[in-house]
Amino acid sequence: MIAKEKFLANIEYVRGHWIWIGSKLSSGYGRAFSEGKMQPAHRVSYRLFVGEIPEGFYVLQTCKNRLCVTPGHLKPAQPIGPFGLKFSVPDAEKVRAIRKRLREPGTTVEKVAKDFNVSTHHVTRIQQGTYRIGREKA
Ligand SMILES: [Zn+2]
Repeated sequence: MIAKEKFLANIEYVRGHWIWIGSKLSSGYGRAFSEGKMQPAHRVSYRLFVGEIPEGFYVLQTCKNRLCVTPGHLKPAQPIGPFGLKFSVPDAEKVRAIRKRLREPGTTVEKVAKDFNVSTHHVTRIQQGTYRIGREKA
């Protein structure tokens, strides 16, 4: 794994974002050399500062900036869900919002999942109180 200092040498702080100023992939994402290969910089950032990316997940930039590698702006997400949507794994803030929504009359698990862009599996676990923030996979 690339050293944090070395990784951060390729970053410029721009209005709350860590913007990658190192070399780039043709897709417009930053690229970082780590573990003997070139990798998307935001994925490397996530693993360096947050933790492992769940198997088969990609890392989403919530601020939609392809060069942003801010750990707090990165979220692992499932590639494709039943509605053809890209799902995200709910964090603490989203879990609270989902719990609140589930208490509203006439709410269904399916509707909440769709509105929050998360899987019905996760909503069901939140409803049952068995959801573990930061430990959930697909
Ligand atoms: Zn950002």
